[in-house]
Amino acid sequence: MVRVEMLAVGRELLIGRTVNTNARWMGARLAKRGSLLSEITTVDDDLAEIAGGLRTSLSRKADYIVVVGGLGPTPDDMTLKGIALATGRPLRLNAVALRLIREHYRERGLGGVEMTPARKKMATLPTRAAALPNPAGTAPGVRLAVGSTKVFCLPGVPSEMKAIFRNSVEPLIANDLGNLSRAYIRLKVEGIYESALAPLISRELRRHPGAYIKSHPKGMVEGRSRIDLDIAVVDKDRAAAEEAAWSVLREMKTGIEGAGAEVTSEERP
Ligand code: ATP
Ligand code: MG
Repeated sequence: MVRVEMLAVGRELLIGRTVNTNARWMGARLAKRGSLLSEITTVDDDLAEIAGGLRTSLSRKADYIVVVGGLGPTPDDMTLKGIALATGRPLRLNAVALRLIREHYRERGLGGVEMTPARKKMATLPTRAAALPNPAGTAPGVRLAVGSTKVFCLPGVPSEMKAIFRNSVEPLIANDLGNLSRAYIRLKVEGIYESALAPLISRELRRHPGAYIKSHPKGMVEGRSRIDLDIAVVDKDRAAAEEAAWSVLREMKTGIEGAGAEVTSEERP
Protein backbone atom coordinates (compact mmCIF):
# COMPACT_ATOMS: atom_id res chain seq x y z
CA MET A 1 0.00 0.00 0.00
CA VAL A 2 1.31 3.43 -0.93
CA ARG A 3 -0.08 6.16 1.31
CA VAL A 4 -0.62 9.48 -0.44
CA GLU A 5 -2.01 12.51 1.38
CA MET A 6 -3.05 15.92 0.10
CA LEU A 7 -2.56 19.13 2.03
CA ALA A 8 -4.65 21.74 0.22
CA VAL A 9 -3.78 25.34 1.04
CA GLY A 10 -6.11 28.26 0.43
CA ARG A 11 -8.83 30.21 2.16
CA GLU A 12 -10.91 30.07 -1.02
CA LEU A 13 -11.36 26.34 -0.36
CA LEU A 14 -12.64 27.03 3.16
CA ILE A 15 -15.06 29.83 2.36
CA GLY A 16 -16.89 28.10 -0.46
CA ARG A 17 -15.29 30.17 -3.22
CA THR A 18 -13.47 27.25 -4.85
CA VAL A 19 -14.29 23.55 -4.86
CA ASN A 20 -11.27 21.31 -4.25
CA THR A 21 -11.38 19.79 -7.71
CA ASN A 22 -7.67 19.04 -7.37
CA ALA A 23 -8.45 16.48 -4.67
CA ARG A 24 -11.20 14.93 -6.77
CA TRP A 25 -8.87 14.63 -9.77
CA MET A 26 -5.95 13.22 -7.79
CA GLY A 27 -8.17 10.85 -5.82
CA ALA A 28 -9.72 9.42 -8.98
CA ARG A 29 -6.35 9.18 -10.68
CA LEU A 30 -4.78 7.27 -7.78
CA ALA A 31 -7.81 4.99 -7.37
CA LYS A 32 -7.60 4.04 -11.03
CA ARG A 33 -4.08 2.79 -10.37
CA GLY A 34 -5.28 0.75 -7.40
CA SER A 35 -3.94 3.24 -4.87
CA LEU A 36 -5.76 5.56 -2.49
CA LEU A 37 -5.58 9.21 -1.54
CA SER A 38 -5.65 8.34 2.14
CA GLU A 39 -6.23 11.79 3.64
CA ILE A 40 -7.21 15.26 2.42
CA THR A 41 -6.48 18.18 4.73
CA THR A 42 -7.42 21.76 3.94
CA VAL A 43 -5.81 24.74 5.68
CA ASP A 44 -6.03 28.52 5.52
CA ASP A 45 -3.43 30.80 3.92
CA ASP A 46 -1.73 31.14 7.27
CA LEU A 47 1.84 30.27 8.18
CA ALA A 48 1.08 28.44 11.42
CA GLU A 49 -1.81 26.51 9.83
CA ILE A 50 0.32 25.39 6.87
CA ALA A 51 3.25 24.37 9.09
CA GLY A 52 0.90 22.59 11.52
CA GLY A 53 -0.90 20.81 8.68
CA LEU A 54 2.36 19.54 7.28
CA ARG A 55 3.64 18.40 10.69
CA THR A 56 0.42 16.47 11.30
CA SER A 57 0.60 14.84 7.88
CA LEU A 58 4.26 13.94 8.44
CA SER A 59 3.40 12.39 11.81
CA ARG A 60 1.12 9.92 9.97
CA LYS A 61 4.18 8.72 8.02
CA ALA A 62 2.59 8.98 4.61
CA ASP A 63 4.76 7.86 1.71
CA TYR A 64 3.81 10.97 -0.23
CA ILE A 65 2.38 14.31 0.81
CA VAL A 66 1.20 16.52 -2.03
CA VAL A 67 0.80 20.13 -0.91
CA VAL A 68 -1.39 22.04 -3.34
CA GLY A 69 -1.71 25.82 -3.71
CA GLY A 70 0.05 28.90 -2.44
CA LEU A 71 3.19 28.81 -4.59
CA GLY A 72 2.52 32.00 -6.50
CA PRO A 73 3.96 35.49 -6.16
CA THR A 74 1.13 37.10 -4.17
CA PRO A 75 1.46 37.77 -0.42
CA ASP A 76 -1.21 35.18 0.48
CA ASP A 77 0.91 32.48 -1.17
CA MET A 78 3.07 31.29 1.73
CA THR A 79 3.21 27.54 1.34
CA LEU A 80 6.99 27.33 1.01
CA LYS A 81 7.48 29.54 4.06
CA GLY A 82 5.19 27.15 5.97
CA ILE A 83 7.15 24.12 4.77
CA ALA A 84 10.40 25.83 5.77
CA LEU A 85 8.97 26.49 9.24
CA ALA A 86 7.70 22.92 9.69
CA THR A 87 10.91 21.26 8.50
CA GLY A 88 13.47 23.71 9.88
CA ARG A 89 14.93 24.25 6.42
CA PRO A 90 15.40 27.96 5.75
CA LEU A 91 14.34 29.44 2.43
CA ARG A 92 17.06 30.17 -0.11
CA LEU A 93 17.10 31.34 -3.68
CA ASN A 94 17.26 28.15 -5.77
CA ALA A 95 19.35 28.41 -8.96
CA VAL A 96 17.37 25.76 -10.87
CA ALA A 97 14.04 27.32 -9.95
CA LEU A 98 15.32 30.74 -11.04
CA ARG A 99 16.43 29.28 -14.37
CA LEU A 100 13.03 27.59 -14.89
CA ILE A 101 11.24 30.88 -14.25
CA ARG A 102 13.55 32.80 -16.61
CA GLU A 103 13.03 30.15 -19.30
CA HIS A 104 9.27 30.35 -18.81
CA TYR A 105 9.29 34.10 -19.53
CA ARG A 106 11.78 33.73 -22.41
CA GLU A 107 9.58 31.11 -24.10
CA ARG A 108 6.76 33.65 -24.00
CA GLY A 109 8.88 36.35 -25.65
CA LEU A 110 9.65 38.13 -22.38
CA GLY A 111 13.38 37.33 -22.32
CA GLY A 112 14.63 40.39 -20.47
CA VAL A 113 11.90 40.45 -17.85
CA GLU A 114 13.18 41.84 -14.56
CA MET A 115 13.52 39.42 -11.65
CA THR A 116 11.44 41.42 -9.22
CA PRO A 117 11.06 40.29 -5.58
CA ALA A 118 7.66 38.80 -6.47
CA ARG A 119 9.23 36.68 -9.21
CA LYS A 120 12.23 35.73 -7.08
CA LYS A 121 9.82 34.58 -4.39
CA MET A 122 8.69 31.73 -6.66
CA ALA A 123 12.35 30.61 -6.86
CA THR A 124 12.96 30.79 -3.12
CA LEU A 125 12.71 27.24 -1.82
CA PRO A 126 13.50 25.43 1.42
CA THR A 127 17.09 24.14 1.49
CA ARG A 128 17.61 20.63 0.12
CA ALA A 129 14.53 20.98 -2.09
CA ALA A 130 14.45 20.47 -5.85
CA ALA A 131 12.57 22.60 -8.38
CA LEU A 132 10.25 20.81 -10.81
CA PRO A 133 9.44 22.20 -14.27
CA ASN A 134 5.95 23.65 -14.64
CA PRO A 135 4.91 23.12 -18.29
CA ALA A 136 1.63 25.00 -17.76
CA GLY A 137 2.62 28.07 -15.72
CA THR A 138 5.31 30.08 -13.97
CA ALA A 139 5.81 28.82 -10.42
CA PRO A 140 7.94 25.65 -10.41
CA GLY A 141 6.83 22.68 -8.37
CA VAL A 142 8.97 21.68 -5.41
CA ARG A 143 10.16 18.31 -4.15
CA LEU A 144 11.81 17.51 -0.86
CA ALA A 145 12.33 14.42 1.27
CA VAL A 146 11.48 14.58 4.97
CA GLY A 147 12.53 11.34 6.59
CA SER A 148 10.96 8.62 4.48
CA THR A 149 8.16 10.89 3.21
CA LYS A 150 8.39 12.50 -0.20
CA VAL A 151 6.83 15.94 -0.08
CA PHE A 152 5.72 17.67 -3.26
CA CYS A 153 4.42 21.23 -3.52
CA LEU A 154 2.32 22.01 -6.58
CA PRO A 155 0.55 25.18 -7.70
CA GLY A 156 -3.18 25.39 -7.00
CA VAL A 157 -4.20 26.20 -10.58
CA PRO A 158 -5.67 22.87 -11.73
CA SER A 159 -3.94 22.77 -15.16
CA GLU A 160 -0.54 23.42 -13.54
CA MET A 161 -1.15 20.98 -10.70
CA LYS A 162 -2.11 18.25 -13.17
CA ALA A 163 0.84 18.85 -15.49
CA ILE A 164 3.44 18.67 -12.71
CA PHE A 165 1.70 15.75 -11.00
CA ARG A 166 1.67 13.75 -14.25
CA ASN A 167 5.31 14.52 -15.10
CA SER A 168 7.06 14.57 -11.75
CA VAL A 169 4.95 12.80 -9.11
CA GLU A 170 2.88 10.06 -10.69
CA PRO A 171 5.81 8.12 -12.21
CA LEU A 172 7.33 7.68 -8.74
CA ILE A 173 4.04 6.55 -7.20
CA ALA A 174 3.41 4.18 -10.13
CA ASN A 175 6.85 2.69 -9.64
CA ASP A 176 6.22 2.14 -5.91
CA LEU A 177 2.82 0.58 -6.61
CA GLY A 178 4.02 -1.93 -9.18
CA ASN A 179 1.43 -3.34 -11.52
CA LEU A 180 -1.91 -3.18 -9.77
CA SER A 181 -5.16 -3.54 -11.69
CA ARG A 182 -8.54 -2.21 -10.72
CA ALA A 183 -11.79 -3.67 -12.04
CA TYR A 184 -14.56 -1.15 -11.57
CA ILE A 185 -18.25 -1.63 -12.34
CA ARG A 186 -21.04 0.86 -11.67
CA LEU A 187 -24.64 -0.29 -11.51
CA LYS A 188 -27.89 1.60 -11.45
CA VAL A 189 -30.49 -0.11 -9.30
CA GLU A 190 -34.21 0.66 -9.04
CA GLY A 191 -36.90 -0.46 -6.65
CA ILE A 192 -34.85 -1.45 -3.61
CA TYR A 193 -34.04 0.46 -0.41
CA GLU A 194 -30.52 0.64 0.98
CA SER A 195 -31.70 -1.25 4.03
CA ALA A 196 -32.58 -4.22 1.79
CA LEU A 197 -29.33 -3.87 -0.15
CA ALA A 198 -27.23 -3.87 3.03
CA PRO A 199 -27.36 -7.64 3.73
CA LEU A 200 -26.53 -8.39 0.09
CA ILE A 201 -23.47 -6.12 0.33
CA SER A 202 -22.41 -7.72 3.63
CA ARG A 203 -22.61 -11.17 2.09
CA GLU A 204 -20.41 -10.14 -0.85
CA LEU A 205 -17.88 -8.48 1.44
CA ARG A 206 -17.60 -11.77 3.34
CA ARG A 207 -16.92 -13.60 0.08
CA HIS A 208 -14.48 -10.92 -1.18
CA PRO A 209 -13.00 -9.12 1.84
CA GLY A 210 -10.80 -6.90 -0.34
CA ALA A 211 -13.63 -5.63 -2.53
CA TYR A 212 -15.03 -2.10 -2.32
CA ILE A 213 -18.81 -2.05 -2.60
CA LYS A 214 -20.51 1.29 -2.11
CA SER A 215 -24.14 2.29 -2.51
CA HIS A 216 -25.04 5.87 -3.43
CA PRO A 217 -28.73 6.53 -2.77
CA LYS A 218 -30.22 8.85 -5.38
CA GLY A 219 -33.57 9.41 -3.74
CA MET A 220 -37.05 8.52 -4.96
CA VAL A 221 -38.05 8.92 -8.58
CA GLU A 222 -41.72 8.27 -9.46
CA GLY A 223 -42.19 6.42 -6.21
CA ARG A 224 -39.23 4.10 -6.73
CA SER A 225 -35.96 4.16 -4.79
CA ARG A 226 -32.89 4.61 -7.01
CA ILE A 227 -29.39 3.65 -6.00
CA ASP A 228 -26.04 3.74 -7.79
CA LEU A 229 -23.86 0.85 -6.72
CA ASP A 230 -20.09 0.87 -7.23
CA ILE A 231 -18.05 -2.33 -7.20
CA ALA A 232 -14.25 -2.15 -7.31
CA VAL A 233 -11.63 -4.84 -6.85
CA VAL A 234 -7.86 -4.25 -6.91
CA ASP A 235 -5.46 -7.11 -7.51
CA LYS A 236 -1.93 -7.64 -8.83
CA ASP A 237 -3.51 -10.01 -11.33
CA ARG A 238 -5.79 -8.27 -13.83
CA ALA A 239 -7.87 -11.36 -14.58
CA ALA A 240 -8.38 -12.06 -10.87
CA ALA A 241 -9.62 -8.49 -10.29
CA GLU A 242 -12.05 -8.78 -13.21
CA GLU A 243 -13.30 -12.19 -12.13
CA ALA A 244 -13.91 -11.06 -8.54
CA ALA A 245 -15.74 -7.89 -9.62
CA TRP A 246 -17.98 -9.80 -12.05
CA SER A 247 -18.65 -12.43 -9.41
CA VAL A 248 -19.80 -9.69 -6.99
CA LEU A 249 -21.95 -8.23 -9.76
CA ARG A 250 -23.61 -11.57 -10.57
CA GLU A 251 -24.41 -12.33 -6.94
CA MET A 252 -25.66 -8.80 -6.24
CA LYS A 253 -27.85 -8.90 -9.31
CA THR A 254 -29.37 -12.23 -8.32
CA GLY A 255 -30.13 -10.85 -4.85
CA ILE A 256 -31.55 -7.58 -6.19
CA GLU A 257 -33.81 -9.35 -8.68
CA GLY A 258 -34.79 -11.83 -5.99
CA ALA A 259 -36.05 -8.86 -3.97
CA GLY A 260 -38.30 -7.78 -6.86
CA ALA A 261 -36.02 -4.87 -7.88
CA GLU A 262 -33.94 -4.41 -11.04
CA VAL A 263 -30.50 -3.43 -12.29
CA THR A 264 -31.18 -0.86 -15.02
CA SER A 265 -27.59 -0.29 -16.20
CA GLU A 266 -24.07 -1.66 -15.90
CA GLU A 267 -21.21 0.69 -16.71
CA ARG A 268 -17.44 0.46 -16.81
CA PRO A 269 -16.45 4.09 -16.12
P1 ATP B 1 -0.35 30.92 -8.77
O1 ATP B 1 1.07 30.78 -9.08
O2 ATP B 1 -1.20 30.95 -9.99
O3 ATP B 1 -0.71 32.01 -7.79
P2 ATP B 1 -0.73 29.19 -6.53
O4 ATP B 1 0.01 27.95 -6.28
O5 ATP B 1 -0.36 30.35 -5.73
O6 ATP B 1 -0.71 29.52 -8.07
P3 ATP B 1 -3.27 29.64 -5.51
O7 ATP B 1 -3.00 31.09 -5.55
O8 ATP B 1 -3.36 28.99 -4.19
O9 ATP B 1 -2.19 28.84 -6.32
O10 ATP B 1 -4.53 29.30 -6.40
C1 ATP B 1 -4.55 29.63 -7.77
C2 ATP B 1 -5.91 29.32 -8.34
O11 ATP B 1 -6.18 27.93 -8.26
C3 ATP B 1 -7.05 30.00 -7.59
O12 ATP B 1 -8.04 30.41 -8.52
C4 ATP B 1 -7.59 28.92 -6.70
O13 ATP B 1 -8.94 29.12 -6.39
C5 ATP B 1 -7.38 27.67 -7.55
N1 ATP B 1 -7.17 26.53 -6.65
C6 ATP B 1 -6.35 26.50 -5.59
N2 ATP B 1 -6.41 25.32 -4.96
C7 ATP B 1 -7.32 24.57 -5.65
C8 ATP B 1 -7.84 23.26 -5.48
N3 ATP B 1 -7.40 22.47 -4.48
N4 ATP B 1 -8.76 22.82 -6.36
C9 ATP B 1 -9.19 23.64 -7.36
N5 ATP B 1 -8.74 24.88 -7.57
C10 ATP B 1 -7.81 25.36 -6.73
MG1 MG C 1 -1.62 32.37 -5.93
